[in-house]
Amino acid sequence: MLVDIVPVGNVSANVKRSASAALRSVYDCDVTIHDAQSVPNGAYDADRNQYTAETFIQLAERVGRGDKNIAITPHDLFYRRRNYVFGLAYLDGSGSVVSTYRLQTSSDGGFSNQSAADIFEDRVRKEIVHEIGHTYGLEHCDNNRCVMNFSPTVREVDIKEENLCGSCQRLIS
Ligand SMILES: [Zn+2]
Ligand SMILES: [Zn+2]
Repeated sequence: MLVDIVPVGNVSANVKRSASAALRSVYDCDVTIHDAQSVPNGAYDADRNQYTAETFIQLAERVGRGDKNIAITPHDLFYRRRNYVFGLAYLDGSGSVVSTYRLQTSSDGGFSNQSAADIFEDRVRKEIVHEIGHTYGLEHCDNNRCVMNFSPTVREVDIKEENLCGSCQRLIS
């Protein structure tokens, strides 16, 4: 199994490294980092000043060389009527996307004593693992510690762990 990470826009080396390490650790897969891509045409919505998540998924599917291809971008994404999304994937699809834009809010509200940089890195790792989980066919999990828990706020992201719970793990092995 190969996952190709497709940076779209200016993605830091740290983010690429964290994403890659998390995927290797949780899914025991090979990971490659694709050449950086520019934002796809038509992705920007001027009324919302945001980018449509689906176009990033299509780009990842088109240029990626992996069995799974995940776009990572610093741009703010939306999907349908939701105000924003941290990421998006289709169940059992090959493409997915994660945005780091809203994962950067400084504090985790005192939930841990980690530095802002470490908190950000953990969030990136969890969201990457989460979206790839959907492409493996995993749906949202009720266990709030499981990485497949639906976490629309950073608070919920901070509470969950980067690993699959036992039930989710069994579904993909
Ligand atoms: Zn999800
Ligand atoms: Zn689970």
